[in-house]
Amino acid sequence: MLTDDDRALGVRLLAQADALAAFTEEAPALTRTYLGPQHRAAGDCLAGLMREAGMDASYDALGNLVGRYPGAQPDAPVLMIGSHMDSVRNAGRYDGLFGILSAIACVAGLHARGARLPVALEVVAFGDEEGVRFGITLIGSKAMAGAFDPAWLSVRDRDGISLREALVAFGADPDAWPSVDRRARPPIAFLESHIEQGPVLLQEGLPVGVVTAIAGAQRALVHLTGLAGHAGTVPMGSRQDALAAAAEMVLAVERIALARGDVVATVGRLEARPGAVNVIPQDVSFSLDVRSGRDDTRRAAMAEIDAACAAIAARRGIALRREPLYQADAAPCDPRLQACLAQAIAARGLPVRHLPSGAGHDAMAFPALCPMAMLFVRCGNGGISHHPDEILAAEDAAIATRVLADALAGVAGALQAPA
Ligand SMILES: [Zn+2]
Repeated sequence: MLTDDDRALGVRLLAQADALAAFTEEAPALTRTYLGPQHRAAGDCLAGLMREAGMDASYDALGNLVGRYPGAQPDAPVLMIGSHMDSVRNAGRYDGLFGILSAIACVAGLHARGARLPVALEVVAFGDEEGVRFGITLIGSKAMAGAFDPAWLSVRDRDGISLREALVAFGADPDAWPSVDRRARPPIAFLESHIEQGPVLLQEGLPVGVVTAIAGAQRALVHLTGLAGHAGTVPMGSRQDALAAAAEMVLAVERIALARGDVVATVGRLEARPGAVNVIPQDVSFSLDVRSGRDDTRRAAMAEIDAACAAIAARRGIALRREPLYQADAAPCDPRLQACLAQAIAARGLPVRHLPSGAGHDAMAFPALCPMAMLFVRCGNGGISHHPDEILAAEDAAIATRVLADALAGVAGALQAPA
């Protein structure tokens, strides 16, 4: 049950997100890229909210905004929470921002009661997650986890401005990037709340869910070579039609992913040459994107897809070559932190739904630094995201924030308990 206070909190969070959506480079659309003046304006607004919530707030050397709320003891370990303040082009207003606003609201709740936890809380608004401006994703969170590559400072945006120049213009200090690295003083954990950006919670009528892992992904290009021929003269039984083979393969990809259930696989692009209405297609290339929260599942699905495509190609006399493009292993969420979130959800009388995240998030940079976990909040409107029609209900915003606040209190105990 939601109290009047909960309802007011939800309304306030959405109003804050509305106000922050005004910091955009392409009004009325929401576009806020890393280190631009709108990043600075949104960050300054968030810093104001952090200070009202009893935190110190400042930017680090790479333009991440960090708010700090002391723990009960001066040497208390740090528990980090937050998400990103940059956006894609023509974005929704809750992607990233909600995770920051809900984290600030949790601290504001403690501050209002004069309460301290056995951990210090650091709320981070990461400057770059989406990678829109420089084509590098997760700059802020990777830097914290010790994975910043100084070569990135020379990367230029589409206007020819380097990351180094943009940092200086922002008022940050590019040469101080090593100071962002937290490996020498790691937080005990990182927690991120985020809209689901998909329809699962919506379809199941659940306001929140516990993320099991951020899915690993594998991408490849498949090249097929058949034999071109006259569409009118080559009999159907003697063709080596590369596009017909590709069609079978696309359906095999779908069938294999459907049968496994815990993997998603997509052919998003397909090109056929020579591409004439009266010529049998000779050369076809298509993309393949396979993701799963479990690396063994993803690899097994990919192997099954490879075998199915090889069999189809052999039967049709088509040459097949697979070109790997990209591979990233899944980032598992810590089981103890998942249990804290699950407990906080169950304590509110809600069913606990575990689900993987098919999209990438700041949290995926953290397993190299500290245990991490994520709370998903229901995305309205069919689960649409990265789009202005992205919707978050005020009640869901309130429930997710209450769950996060309850979980924070449990995390310190769960991680400090002797094993
Ligand atoms: Zn996001």
